[in-house]
Amino acid sequence: MRRRRKTKILATLGPSSNTAETIEKLFDAGADIFRINMSHTSQDAMRDLVSAIRHVETKFNRPLGILADLQGPKLRVGAFANGTVELERGQSFTLDCDDRPGNDQRVCLPHPEIFEALENGHTILLDDGRVRLRVKESESDRAVTEVVQGRKLSDRKGVSLPDTTLRSGALTPKDRSDLDAALAAEVDWVALSFIQRPDDVAEARKIVQGRAGVMSKIEKPQALQRLSEIIDISDGIMVARGDLGVEMPLESVPGVQKQITRLGRRAGKPVVVATQMLESMITAPVPTRAEVSDVATAVFEGADAVMLSAESAAGEYPVEAVETMSRIAEAVEQDRVFTSILQAQRPEPETTGADTITSAARQIAEALGLAAIVSYTSSGSTGIRASRERPGVPIIALSPVRRTARRLSVIWGLHCVVTEDARDIDEMVNRACAIAYNEGFATPGQRVIITAGVPFGTPGATNLLRVAFIGPDGKSGI
Ligand code: PGA
Ligand code: MN
Repeated sequence: MRRRRKTKILATLGPSSNTAETIEKLFDAGADIFRINMSHTSQDAMRDLVSAIRHVETKFNRPLGILADLQGPKLRVGAFANGTVELERGQSFTLDCDDRPGNDQRVCLPHPEIFEALENGHTILLDDGRVRLRVKESESDRAVTEVVQGRKLSDRKGVSLPDTTLRSGALTPKDRSDLDAALAAEVDWVALSFIQRPDDVAEARKIVQGRAGVMSKIEKPQALQRLSEIIDISDGIMVARGDLGVEMPLESVPGVQKQITRLGRRAGKPVVVATQMLESMITAPVPTRAEVSDVATAVFEGADAVMLSAESAAGEYPVEAVETMSRIAEAVEQDRVFTSILQAQRPEPETTGADTITSAARQIAEALGLAAIVSYTSSGSTGIRASRERPGVPIIALSPVRRTARRLSVIWGLHCVVTEDARDIDEMVNRACAIAYNEGFATPGQRVIITAGVPFGTPGATNLLRVAFIGPDGKSGI
């Protein structure tokens, strides 16, 4: 089963979509990779989802990706004696380490590391930015603040600190435990929430040890300041617009999205654009014009994947949301402007075999009007470099390693097939042509271009280009 689009769809699973039956429908509607949000999913439920996804994978014989999204250091205030308080602009409000219930003068903030790092003048945002405090006096165990923007505040609302860099790392004890469980369940990607610095990613990489791709969620201004270094040390990047829009002015998020997508593309690291893409479809079967335009923008920018959150996890129309996203991506990719935009942003190939060969493959495929580029890639890296070229023709990535094929599910334009490495050139050509034919990318008489590494089976040795005709029976190449 082949898709008619290059941009991938990442669908979050949740109460609306946690059965094998619905997962199958989401896949059928266009989902290429699934997100399990560990903020709302127990480890047992995560394992059940993984086996349901693998069931669908086996049934359709298509490699599917699974991303486990770790909660990260989500900060919260404590509880209030009456459940909620009314804060007024200009009043003083104290955050402290006293775990007794709060009132309209004070509340517990059970994270001592915050007091260590707060400075006078820093902003503290509560409840997704609905309440804004400014620090007046910061001490080692409390902070006196002024309410800049007031409103109702209730128990355990979230805390965002746009100005403050915390000393603590990005992995909480819960994250470490969830990470171990997710790796044991053989997920393909893990996402790190609220990272502030490259070291946070390095810390996770040490645990992951290559067993999954590491995707850094950019959702804090501190991470944005060190974006290039974070991209360098990550396998993928998510533009996490939800929390980004709390910690930064909302109107700066679109520019940040463009900046992250461009840098990711230049580095050849997949970029996922996330959050509120089709938000109104949580309760309606059709999106708003503005939402369609938002998805289209991400596709025009060349993002690898667009993500559904509550739309597929908790909404009333999970399948329709995926179908809608898929239709938008297909339509945008047919637009002539799309090709010219991607072309204008094409980065130069780096001076490696994989880059120069895949760049040449793209040029030849486009100039000769070939049916597809077929890339043998055991580690996945040549597949990713071929995608970085953003060719106009389909790319088929062939890997003997199932985990590679699954991990590549998030990469723009790659149709992955698990198949053994070829033993010689004839087999390489025959296998590539047969798969291009069987998977619906080429018909007898059409040509494909094949990239591979000789000697076969040596990762990182892409050094061969071959143009071949699909034979009359579709089973071999000439
Ligand atoms: P979340 O991440 O859904 O885990 O908060 C995405 C975002 O912040 O946009
Ligand atoms: Mn977030």
